[in-house]
Amino acid sequence: TVLAGKGVTGHPRRDPIARPDAKEPDEAAAEPRIRLAKPDFGEEEIEAVREVLSSGTLTNGPENTGFEREFAARHDAEHGVTFASGTAALAAMLLAEDIGPGDEVIVPSMTFISTATSVCHVGATPVFADIDPWSFNLDPADIPRLVTPRTRAVLTVHYAGQPGDMDALRAVCARYGLLLLEDAAQAAGAGYRGIPVGTFGKSAMFSFTPTKNITTGEGGMVLTNDVRTAEKLRLLRNHGQQQLYKHTVIGYNWRLTEMQAALGRVQLRKLDAILTRKRANVAWMNRRLGSVPGITPPFQKPHSASAHMLYTCLVDEGRDAVRDFLLRRGIEARVYFPPAHTQPIFGRVRGCLPKTEEAARRMLSLPMHSQLTPAELSYIADTVEKGVGVARMSR
Ligand SMILES: *Cc1c(COP(=O)(O)O)cnc(C)c1O
Repeated sequence: TVLAGKGVTGHPRRDPIARPDAKEPDEAAAEPRIRLAKPDFGEEEIEAVREVLSSGTLTNGPENTGFEREFAARHDAEHGVTFASGTAALAAMLLAEDIGPGDEVIVPSMTFISTATSVCHVGATPVFADIDPWSFNLDPADIPRLVTPRTRAVLTVHYAGQPGDMDALRAVCARYGLLLLEDAAQAAGAGYRGIPVGTFGKSAMFSFTPTKNITTGEGGMVLTNDVRTAEKLRLLRNHGQQQLYKHTVIGYNWRLTEMQAALGRVQLRKLDAILTRKRANVAWMNRRLGSVPGITPPFQKPHSASAHMLYTCLVDEGRDAVRDFLLRRGIEARVYFPPAHTQPIFGRVRGCLPKTEEAARRMLSLPMHSQLTPAELSYIADTVEKGVGVARMSR
C-alpha cells in the first residue's frame, strides 16, 4: 500500500527526494511531474519507525542486527554491516583492507563521484578505467594497462544495477594479485549467472539513498564472507571500540540509526516485488523504444538479472535537446553520470577514456521507478519519440 498525497499528520506529503539547491536552467522551466525515482513507502514503514521510537533504543540495537542478517541472507552472504551512508561504507571497505596513502585503486569513471572520492578519503589514488560501451560497466580488458606496483584493488560498479563481467574481473584480478571489491550501490537484488551480487569480491557496498530501489533515507551496507573483514568494519563504524571505551583502531561514527534500520527491514521485504514491477516496466519500454529511430534502449547482458535502478538509453543525435524537451514536459530525465575523471577535482583530463566520454555524450536516463503507471510509461515513450524528432529537425 502506498500513501497517496498524505503524510501521517495529514499535511500534504512532501517529496522525499532531496532537491538540488541549484537547479539547472532547464529544470527551472517545469517542476517534473514524473520523477526519476519514487520510494515505495506505506503504513508498514511508518509503523516500523513508530515502534522504534517508542522502544527507546535509537542506535546500536536489534533493528540494525536484524537488517544486517536479513540483507546478507537475501544476497547469500555471511556477514552484513550497516553504515550511515553508502559513501561511508565504501571508505570503511577500503580502510578494512588497509588501503591508504601510496596505494592505487582502479575504478570506472562512469559512476557516481563517491566511488572515486572514497578512495581519496582514505588517502589512496583512484585510477580511472574505461567501460564496456554496451553495459557501461568497467571493462576488464582495460585493467592491464593501468596496473602499477602500487595497484591494490579494483573497485567495480554494477552500473544501473546490471552486474559487471564478474568472471573476467575475477580472472584479471587473480592474474595481477589485486583485490576485487564491488560498489553494488545500485544493485540490491541483482544476480550474475544466478548468484546474487555482493560476494564476487572480498566485500561489497550497497546504498539506501532515496534514488535507489529500496531506501532508508540515507544508509549503506557492506556484505562480506570474511569474518575478520566484518569485525574490522564493525570497529571502524563504532569509534574503534572493541568494548566500551576500549579503542583499538582509530574509528568513526558511521552508524545507521535504529529508525533507518527498521525502515530498511520493511523495504527489504518489498525488494522482490519492486524488482518484478520494474522488470515488467523495462520490458515494455524496451519494446516500445526499440522501434524509435535514433534511440538505443538499455542493453541487457545475457546471464545477468539487473536491478534496473536506472533506465539508461543512448540518443544518437541531440541528447541535450531531447533531455530539455522531456524536462519541459514534466519528465525528469538526467545524464547519469558526467564522467568522474572530467570533474574539476580530478583535473578535467579529457580524451583518455574514449568509450566513457562517447557514452557520456549520448546517454540519457529516463524515469523507471516501480510505481509508474501504464499511462505514465506511454507518456514517457511518446514524449521521447517526439523529442527525438524535434531534435533531428533542428539540426
Ligand atoms: C548512490 C551511489 C553511491 C553513494 O551512496 P550514498 O549512500 O549516496 O553515499 C556510490 N556509488 C554509486 C555507484 C552510487 O550509485
